[in-house]
Amino acid sequence: MGRDEAHLGEFDLIRRYFSRIGRARSDVLLGVGDDAALLRMPADTELAAAVDTIVAGRHFPHDSDARSIGHRALAVNLSDLAAMGATPAWATLALTLPSADPDWLERFSGGLADLANAHGVALVGGDTTAGPLTISVQVMGHVARGTALRRSGAHAGDLLAVTGTLGDAGAGLALATGSHTTVDDAVVRELRQRFEYPTPRVEFGATARGTATAAMDLSDGLVGDLPKLACASGLAAHVDVERLPLSSDLQAFASPQRARDWALGAGDDYELLLAVPPDGYAKLASLAAQLDLRLTAIGELRRGTGVSWALNGANFTPAAHGYDHFRGPSTQITV
Ligand code: ADP
Ligand code: MG
Repeated sequence: MGRDEAHLGEFDLIRRYFSRIGRARSDVLLGVGDDAALLRMPADTELAAAVDTIVAGRHFPHDSDARSIGHRALAVNLSDLAAMGATPAWATLALTLPSADPDWLERFSGGLADLANAHGVALVGGDTTAGPLTISVQVMGHVARGTALRRSGAHAGDLLAVTGTLGDAGAGLALATGSHTTVDDAVVRELRQRFEYPTPRVEFGATARGTATAAMDLSDGLVGDLPKLACASGLAAHVDVERLPLSSDLQAFASPQRARDWALGAGDDYELLLAVPPDGYAKLASLAAQLDLRLTAIGELRRGTGVSWALNGANFTPAAHGYDHFRGPSTQITV
């Protein structure tokens, strides 16, 4: 770190790393630099807004690559907009940093910028303070009036479907925090990638509007998240656990039981969970295929309450429960 960089002040830091992130959008009337951003909404849309915080040692290991931290801070929020079927447009960043390390800031802002650019999102403001490493990103986007995908829209008889594969991020986190010398390097790389660089399903979420009746993103694991969708829709849910989509990498790395436990409970996958009327399923599957995305029916919604699980036809009780910050024991990282 050079003398000048060691003395990087708050103003220089913001200007150097955070004043030009994302696309120059004509709907940003005023971005970073004033007291508040001024943004123009398209006609006949609703504003979709979400905020998520990630904390070092709780949501990611302390020694994570800053590029991954920047990516994840935005990705977890884009995933929330994806789950609403909304199109992301703008973000703000509240950054709490132990020190202004230029190398760290370069990598962090690079990870954030690459994902913002990929989705045409502009960073329009934020706040920077000193303290334990904590990152809050707020995303804002829009969705045509009355068309957002809520958790509450499912009907009895709708199929439950998930995008992608489940459990990879759980395995990736275990690999990032431990040593597993018995596995192929390519498998390790792929699974770690799923934890460190999750892919928010933004295009698919927008595409699913009008076909899916309800949606949410899987951040806390299916066991923790599915009851929220079922409850919001006033329905019971049933899942056939053997249908959960598992990647070949996860199956190469973990025993069937371990893979299943991660798929059910580990969280951090940021795939979408959707309710789909049976006569709309083929259409949704073909829309997913056009995006090169796997879509798998894993169960259905029924009249009643609660979630039931079966494994090869027999009743099944998942070992894992979803992550809850204020209820122990923790299933998330303890680093
Ligand atoms: P104020 O005290 O008026 O809130 P600040 O000094 O906190 O202003 O911020 C100056 C400008 O820089 C504001 O436009 C703010 O939105 C922006 N900003 C501050 N921190 C960040 C950040 N980490 N990323 C992006 N913009 C930021
Ligand atoms: Mg401020």
